[in-house]
Order: sequence, then C-alpha cells, then structure tokens
Amino acid sequence: MSSSRTAIFPGSFDPLTNGHVDLIRRTARLFDRVVVAVLKNPDKRGLFSVDERVAMIGEVCISLPESDRITTDAFEGLLVHFAASQGACAVVRGLRSGLDLDYESPMASMNAHLAPDIETVFLPASNRYAHLSSSLVKEVATLGGNVDGLVPPLVASRLAAKIAGARGARS
Ligand code: ADP
Repeated sequence: MSSSRTAIFPGSFDPLTNGHVDLIRRTARLFDRVVVAVLKNPDKRGLFSVDERVAMIGEVCISLPESDRITTDAFEGLLVHFAASQGACAVVRGLRSGLDLDYESPMASMNAHLAPDIETVFLPASNRYAHLSSSLVKEVATLGGNVDGLVPPLVASRLAAKIAGARGARS
C-alpha cells in the first residue's frame, strides 16, 4: 500500500467560494494530496459548466502555498468509485451547520457501506465562512451585490461576465 495519503474533496463548486478554498487548504495540510472533484450531475444544470468550474478551481489553486498537493478533476457516477480510482483513503466534506450534518450523515454511512476502506472526514467551516454558500453568492451577484471577499477575485470577475452575458442574451 502506498504511504502517500490522498483525500478527495467533492462538490458542485458552482462557483468556488472562499469557504471552499479554506477547506481545500486545510485538507492539503492534513493529507499528501487533495483532489478537488467536481461532480458531473446530469440532473442539475449549473450557472457554470463543469469544465468552467474545473478550470476556475485549477487557476485559483495554482497560486496557493499548498498548490503542489492539490489537483482538480471532474467525475460522474459513484463518489467511492472515483475515490478508489484515485487511490484515496478519505473523502472530505465541510460542515457549516447541523443541517449540513443531517444531509451528510446518510451519505457518509452509505459510502462506508460501499467502501469500508475510505473514511469520510468532516471539517468544520471556519467561523468567517460558516454562512457562505455558492447559491447565496450567485443570488447576491445576480442582484448586483458585491461578492468581493466571498469568492477569489478570478471567480468574481467570471461571475460578473457570466451574469452580464446572461442579461445580454435575454435583452
Ligand atoms: P455539494 O452540492 O456537494 O454540497 P458544494 O459546492 O455546495 O457542493 O459544497 C462542496 C463541499 O464544500 C461540501 O462539503 C460543503 O459542505 C463544503 N462547503 C461549502 N461551502 C463551505 C463553506 N463556506 N465553508 C466550509 N465548507 C463549505
């Protein structure tokens, strides 16, 4: 067995927020490698395409101090299958509240049933990001609010361009 420990950090990342970045960095300090994995969900059309999300995460993570431990990918199907294909020993999820825990617990149990060798690791959200979500960021940005400090600058500019593009297409 390899002594290098890989964790998967899966999610929608539509788009990446500073709460996600905080979790990615903390995970990269706990494991040798973290794979930020964007779920291709055929039932859920995002604001950004999966390719756009993967590109944004990669562009943001390349300038982090932990960048040599971080890779970005997309996956479809069962998370545990993807995790096994990466040789991962853990799946990391963030907890912002009891609601997150209620949502995450059944998935963690099912994943433990499907792949007993892969642990789910919950990391509490940092206080400053505990109320931050991609959906809130999209709502604020769509209504013309300032999202500086909530998302990386690169994400803020892609959001502005995406929203301006969507407005242009409607008028
Ligand atoms: P999903 O649809 O899988 O929940 P998200 O992109 O919303 O995808 O979240 C991916 C992961 O990041 C989840 O584990 C979520 O709890 C965590 N997360 C989201 N926002 C934050 C935040 N502000 N602080 C810490 N973790 C977060």
